[in-house]
Amino acid sequence: MITRTDLRGPALASLDARGLRDTLPRAAFDVEAALDVVRPICEQVRHHGAEALRELSERFDQVRPQSLRVPGEVLAAALEQLDPDIRAALTEAIRRARLVHDDQRRTDTTTHVAPGGTVTERWVPVDRVGLYVPGGVAVLASSVVMNVVPAQAAGVTSLAVASPPQRSNTGAFAGYPDPTILAACALLGVDEVYAVGGAQAIAMFAYGAREDDGTTVCEPVSLVTGPGNIYVVAAKRLLKGLIGIDSEAGPTEIAILADETADAEHVAADLISQAEHDTLAAAVLVTDSEELATAVEAALERRVARTKHAERIRISLTGEQSGIVLVDDVEAGVRVVDAYAAEHLEIQTRDAAAVAARIRNAGAIFVGAYAPVSLGDYAAGSNHVLPTGGCACHSSGLSVQSFLRGIHVVDYTQDALREVAGVVTTLAQAEDLPAHGEAVTARFESDE
Ligand code: NAD
Repeated sequence: MITRTDLRGPALASLDARGLRDTLPRAAFDVEAALDVVRPICEQVRHHGAEALRELSERFDQVRPQSLRVPGEVLAAALEQLDPDIRAALTEAIRRARLVHDDQRRTDTTTHVAPGGTVTERWVPVDRVGLYVPGGVAVLASSVVMNVVPAQAAGVTSLAVASPPQRSNTGAFAGYPDPTILAACALLGVDEVYAVGGAQAIAMFAYGAREDDGTTVCEPVSLVTGPGNIYVVAAKRLLKGLIGIDSEAGPTEIAILADETADAEHVAADLISQAEHDTLAAAVLVTDSEELATAVEAALERRVARTKHAERIRISLTGEQSGIVLVDDVEAGVRVVDAYAAEHLEIQTRDAAAVAARIRNAGAIFVGAYAPVSLGDYAAGSNHVLPTGGCACHSSGLSVQSFLRGIHVVDYTQDALREVAGVVTTLAQAEDLPAHGEAVTARFESDE
């Protein structure tokens, strides 16, 4: 079911990092292509506000939200009706995520550059953020936790969540997002929640939304974070600049670097677990063991046939974004996974921790036999909103840092400025920007 790429022998050595990346399995329908789909959606929201959001929900979610903003009593009812086991699991996931994210908080630093001259880096939370929680193929209440916990730990005071309305909802929840998502918002104290999904949700956050009579439905935000499908990612890329974004956290990817010590059943189960997300999800095994590759192929056949979402998983595993890559040894495997820059990377080799320490490019690394990606999806304490599509070579997963801005505060006394005045005027002359230098010398003219 899954294709093989053979990079043993001289094939790998002849490729540089970019060439290697192009050789590895990747989805053909990419973010660039999806931009053409989302551009008119974002324009519609920009010009027609709330009415556009309702129309787009009817088109893409086959449901017209009762109201775009979820009323407080609906959030309270969702928490009240939440299954106690799910509530306990969410509470534990929140506790673990808080432990990790509270530890990430940065402290301000003040550097004494010269006598009387200091530069302080002051970390300030973004004022208002929009958090996207997926709800298309699957409804990801866990993504509420992953977005909200770091935002709260950073000290963000205005948080809005958006998630697609669910046509399967009934009763009090009809036309609203999944009740478990609403309950997770209530559990975390978030009371601004919108029944809006996909690219239109990102556009709503970027432009804000009003009714035709001018009534405000949603105020614009400064930063949008959260995972989503290819359309959500494309909208984030399109609107970046008007809003800040976290990383491009799109259709999920798992890469597993494994040698003959790995258990083929575990490897297959982990590949399937991420293929379950989306037909565009990518599952890639990199191994130096042909025996393991063959055993994983057999285990995939068996396991996919008996799992619940077999059809979606089969499409994802047989797609060109998934595959098994054979390499000569673990060293070559490290080169391959580094070039691939996976969202999630599992290391299932001998001395897994030592191999993991050599990896440079990955959204998150899962070390050894007992750290499957699905642990990180829910309850490791780490964040599951991670860069995809190779973006892990330049971006990080969601963290407290994503919600902070570092402001440089420059404080120099007259003497400190005088001491460095010559440096400024010389460099200003060198750049033919004399007025820059004059802004300094003007302060000492009476000295002369
Ligand atoms: P989603 O909420 O991201 O997308 C659903 C929305 O997509 C719908 O509301 C609709 O508005 C829009 N849409 C659907 N088809 C469309 C079309 N043809 N044109 C325009 N818009 C369309 O939910 P999803 O679809 O289940 O996707 C969730 C994604 O999030 C999965 O790909 C999953 O792998 C990914 N994910 C990524 C991470 C990460 O950190 N990278 C974490 C969790 C989940």
